[in-house]
Amino acid sequence: MVKILAIANQKGGVGKTTTGINLAASLVAVGKRVLLVDLDPQGNTTMGSGVDKRGLQQTIYHVLLGEQPITEVRVVSTPGKYDLIPANQELAGTEVEMVNLEQRETRLKTALQPVKEEYDFILMDCPPSLNLLTLNGLCAAHSVVIPMQCEYFALEGLSDLVNTIRKVRLNFNPTLKIEGLLRTMFDPRNVLAKQVSDQLQQHFGNKVYRTVIPRNVRLAEAPGFGVPVLFHDKLSKGAQAYLALAKEIMGATA
Ligand code: ADP
Ligand code: MG
Repeated sequence: MVKILAIANQKGGVGKTTTGINLAASLVAVGKRVLLVDLDPQGNTTMGSGVDKRGLQQTIYHVLLGEQPITEVRVVSTPGKYDLIPANQELAGTEVEMVNLEQRETRLKTALQPVKEEYDFILMDCPPSLNLLTLNGLCAAHSVVIPMQCEYFALEGLSDLVNTIRKVRLNFNPTLKIEGLLRTMFDPRNVLAKQVSDQLQQHFGNKVYRTVIPRNVRLAEAPGFGVPVLFHDKLSKGAQAYLALAKEIMGATA
């Protein structure tokens, strides 16, 4: 059975895209078949997966508008060995263009139907806002992975996301769960990070992944080469952390 995960947090720069790319590659490295869906008009997931967003004729945008089947848009086997549904700036128009379409919240869910059984995991990298694109991700997902940086306003932002998940559950996707909260760019020497991390565990208990992603320059460098960190520096702390996360997630879904 496929497991469909939305990677979401309306805050930008918390590590959603880094998690999408590197979790996808790590799941592949431990033998899983993975599809990564770029839902952000910035197209960072696309570029970081080694696909030039500027040269694309067909993207997730055309899939959401019903102009192309997902199989026409899919990039099979990127350098990280996962498949990709790419995005670029064109996707920024969907909010307006989808407004009058029927079932606009569940268009991604419907679009994924013909390919979902080809995969063990489908990961969706959501944009940094609680907009219609994120809503499509949440409606298509079984559960949500929430990357977060342990800083002062992190918990406050989290309550908006948790409320949105609750609303999606009520209106569209009754079984949507929080898969886990992922501490990213973590620096254990930072006292505030440690405090926020403790609070997180008090609030969310075992929903907080045991695996912590450290701040690691290799993770930040890898997108410049269009590869996941496993193909940039396999022994780096960042690569090892995402491999550990893949194993933790597999353990939880086995
Ligand atoms: P988001 O998708 O939530 O906006 P990104 O994954 O793009 O966040 O990360 C924001 C920036 O931080 C990027 O430049 C990325 O390379 C960098 N980054 C993300 N995670 C790490 C990490 N663990 N260590 C160092 N840099 C990181
Ligand atoms: Mg991003």
